[in-house]
Amino acid sequence: MDNGQKDSKLFSDLEYLGFNKTDNWELYGSNTAGPEKQAVKEVEENKEKTLLYEREVICPVCETRFNARAVKVSAARTVSKDSDFFIRYSVINPYFYDVWVCNSCGYASMKKDFEYIKEHQIEHIKKNITSRWRGRKYPETYDLDIAIERYKLSLLNYAVRNAKNSSKAMNCLKIAWMYRLKEDVESEQTFLLQTLEGLENAYYNEDFPMYGMDRFTTMYLIGELSRRTGNDEKAMQWFSKVITTTSVSPKLKDLARDQKDLIKFDHSHNDTDLSAPAAGEPAAEGSKKGFFRSIFRGL
Ligand SMILES: [Zn+2]
Repeated sequence: MDNGQKDSKLFSDLEYLGFNKTDNWELYGSNTAGPEKQAVKEVEENKEKTLLYEREVICPVCETRFNARAVKVSAARTVSKDSDFFIRYSVINPYFYDVWVCNSCGYASMKKDFEYIKEHQIEHIKKNITSRWRGRKYPETYDLDIAIERYKLSLLNYAVRNAKNSSKAMNCLKIAWMYRLKEDVESEQTFLLQTLEGLENAYYNEDFPMYGMDRFTTMYLIGELSRRTGNDEKAMQWFSKVITTTSVSPKLKDLARDQKDLIKFDHSHNDTDLSAPAAGEPAAEGSKKGFFRSIFRGL
């Protein structure tokens, strides 16, 4: 029973006054927040607008000029960093503005890669994205749900243009982080697992640095994402590799030791046995069919 039906009973003795269709009347319903909360939201949105600027961009697919919203460098305030490098911000969240979307053709990408698209990839975008694109008007400021939608649109573009695994993985990681902010654990795990698959593949097949990460940082991140997705054995193997590689910085080794201790601590408290890590490099896992179909639902 929804609130409208439930609340209609509150007004049920007023039929004789002519109020006999009260099914959709709610006493509190969605207005509980009141006008004050709405006013606060507007003040926050107006404040956020002052922290943004418009940056002119030329779409490499259709050559349309458009203004992408960007966060002023001085605006972002870092609050903390999670163990998988997710940065938590106050005031404004730069992740929300990380994806640029060309509204003329549907081409979307994380801004770092936006210009870097090859001729044959452009053809894939035109054929598979532009032909279906209906356009979308976004509000002046973006929220978490919009950020997720834009990151997914970007990921769909990466899939269509057959981008590098590191790009797909990094895009998946950012979606996982957005779901972490949304406290949607299941979706976060789905995207962390996809990140892991792409990142392992990139680790073995691509050049470093990738997205600002060197080989050792990537090793650590693979370990940490394994830990976060419940594969402690694999996490221990990667952390051990970081710790025992001589040229790794002391800071990164400390991070790996901390996360290794965390696993040991969890296991000692859960009374579970953690078998010793096997020698050699951990193998990458196989791909999951149908994944792209399921994550792009709703676009
Ligand atoms: Zn375009």
